[in-house]
Amino acid sequence: MLKIDRLSTSYKTIHGDVRVVNNLDFTINDNEIFGIAGESGCGKSTLLKALYDIIDFPMQVDSGRVILSGEKEGNPFHFETGEIRKTWWNNISYVPQAAQSVMNPITHLRNQFLDSIPESQRKNETKKQTLERCAAYLKELDLSPDLLGAYPFQLSGGMRQRVIIALATFMSPNVVLADEPTTALDVVVQRGILMMLMRLQRQLKNTLVLVSHDMGVHYQITNRMGIMYSGSFVELGKTEDIFSDPIHPYTEMLIGALPRVGDKSQKAGIPGRPPALTNPPPGCRFAPRCPKAKEICHRQCPEFVEVRPGRFAACHMLGKEGI
Ligand code: SF4
Repeated sequence: MLKIDRLSTSYKTIHGDVRVVNNLDFTINDNEIFGIAGESGCGKSTLLKALYDIIDFPMQVDSGRVILSGEKEGNPFHFETGEIRKTWWNNISYVPQAAQSVMNPITHLRNQFLDSIPESQRKNETKKQTLERCAAYLKELDLSPDLLGAYPFQLSGGMRQRVIIALATFMSPNVVLADEPTTALDVVVQRGILMMLMRLQRQLKNTLVLVSHDMGVHYQITNRMGIMYSGSFVELGKTEDIFSDPIHPYTEMLIGALPRVGDKSQKAGIPGRPPALTNPPPGCRFAPRCPKAKEICHRQCPEFVEVRPGRFAACHMLGKEGI
């Protein structure tokens, strides 16, 4: 289980600290695919970094913590912000947006696999035996074991992403975090990567946290999702409920902007741009773009409340104006 306990993070800049994740408080369950959606710059990748404990300058945690707890092979574990990196690969792993950014370009993939497996996890194996296990795992994922002898630059973008997913799941981590894993890939490759992530999650019965700006990706594979806007969640719930009955005006507009096969009508999109995090507006941060905004919205921030069991939203107009 991954518990996000009143977490706020910011970046240090020459103009002062800029708050990017704002007092988030929610839980991601075992054995689910949880999606984090929202426009670029809303804080979703920063949140993912905090979940993975990549808190390096200029990023900082202002308050709160992330708790990773559970049980693996009969052994309970509990790690909090600042300790989570001790269990990278083993209990939690990360699939970055651009696979090449985490691969060493001048070493064979076999070394990247060996480097990611701590000695303590090699089960008294020789390197040869560990590599045999890696080759068998690649085969299980319908990838050629010969890939272990390749350099990253010899692979296509899609193949590099598949190898990173194999690397991230080799030790059967309880949680896999994936940051825009299909961005910049063509739709066919994108589908293949999504299917691979889904299949692995089902096989490992673990938790997959998927960050994507693409609502179509969330619709296809996530079980629950949170919609982020300007550093906070504005809506959270089961994915099917959010798509069939969006509560928050921002969610409604995001879903309304999705193209549909056979629908030739022009999509309205969402007017304006998300606010600059250096100078966010007072009250509801979506107010300058919201067609349902009222006077109160411009001066008071709405609370994030449970609207019905398992369904949360932050809007002053809940229960009014058809919201
Ligand atoms: Fe729109 Fe007001 Fe709701 Fe914000 S609080 S989403 S501005 S109606």
